[in-house]
Amino acid sequence: MSGHTLARTEAHEGWHAAADVIVVGYGYTGAVAAMEAHDAGAEVLLIEKMPDPGGISITSGGNVRIVEDAEEGFRHLQASSAGTTPDPVLRALAAGMAEISAYFAKLARVSGASINRRQADGNYPFPGTKTFGYVSIDQVPGFDAERTYPFVSSYLPIHRAAGVRLFKVLQDNISSRGLRVELSTPANRLITGAHGEICGVMAQYDGRMFAIKARRAVVLACGGFEANPEMQRQYWQEKPVLNAAYMGRRRNPDGAGGRGGALAHVALSRSLRFQAP
Ligand SMILES: Cc1cc2nc3c(=O)[nH]c(=O)nc-3n(C[C@H](O)[C@H](O)[C@H](O)COP(=O)(O)OP(=O)(O)OC[C@H]3O[C@@H](n4cnc5c(N)ncnc54)[C@H](O)[C@@H]3O)c2cc1C
Repeated sequence: MSGHTLARTEAHEGWHAAADVIVVGYGYTGAVAAMEAHDAGAEVLLIEKMPDPGGISITSGGNVRIVEDAEEGFRHLQASSAGTTPDPVLRALAAGMAEISAYFAKLARVSGASINRRQADGNYPFPGTKTFGYVSIDQVPGFDAERTYPFVSSYLPIHRAAGVRLFKVLQDNISSRGLRVELSTPANRLITGAHGEICGVMAQYDGRMFAIKARRAVVLACGGFEANPEMQRQYWQEKPVLNAAYMGRRRNPDGAGGRGGALAHVALSRSLRFQAP
C-alpha cells in the first residue's frame, strides 16, 4: 500500500474509531464498494490517502466494457485469456459486464446524467466479439469538470473526458447516501486478531496514527497494480508497459497504490489488460 509495507499487528483494545466496513481508496472501485456495502445495510467508512478523491480513475477514459450476452462474452474472454484465468472467474466477469448498463442507468439517475451505450467489437476477432460494447456517462447537467476537479491531469481535454464524468456521478452517489469519507488518510497496516482475522486498519491522519475497527470487513480498493514489478513480470504479455500512474504523477507521485489493492485485481487483470480500449 502506497510505499508502506503491508504488515499485520495484533488486535488491540484501544480503538479510536469504528465502522462495519472500511473501504481503503476512493477511486471507482472504492466508491462502488462503499455504495454497495452501504446499500446492503453496513455503516461504511471510506478513507483516501490523497487530499483529493478519484485516484487514477478520475483521469481515465471512462469507457466501460459491456457485453449484450454473458455466455458470448464468456467465450470471448476465455479465448483471449488462453487458459490463464479460471472459467468461473471469467463467467463472473462476463455476467457482471452484462449488468453494467443497467447499473450505470441507476447511478446516473442521482446526477440527472445521460449515458452513452454503443456496440464495439471485442479487442480480438475471437468468438463472441460482436457482443461487446461500451457504456459511458454522456452528459451531467450543470457540471463543469475543470472547476469541480481542478487537480485532475487528463489525457484528453477535460470537458471531453468521460472518466471525470463517471467519477462525478459516483461522487454524487456517495454524497447522496451521506457516506463518511476521510481524505488525506492513508491506511498503513491491517490489524489482525489472534487467529489472523482482519479486524481493522491503522490509518494516519494529520500526522497521528489511528486504529480503526472494522466490525465486518476491510475492502482494499487501493489500485496501483501497474506499479508492482513482480506482477508486471507475471501478468503483462508485452514489456515494458508505461506505468498508468504517469498521467497522475503531479498529484500522486508514488503511483496510486500497491500490492494490497493489486491483489484484488490479479485474476481479472490477466484477461483485462489487453481488453482495454
Ligand atoms: C489514462 C487512462 C485511461 C483509462 N481509460 C480507461 C477506460 O476508458 N476504460 C477502462 O475500463 N479503464 C480505463 N483505464 C483504467 C482504469 O481507469 C483503472 O483500471 C481504474 O480506474 C482503477 O480504479 P481503482 O479504483 O481500482 O484504482 P484508483 O482509481 O487508482 O483508486 C485507488 C485509490 O486508492 C488510494 N490509495 C492507495 N493506497 C492507499 C492507502 N494506503 N490508503 C488510502 N488510500 C489509498 C489512491 O490514492 C487512489 O485514490 C484508464 C487508465 C488510465 C490511466
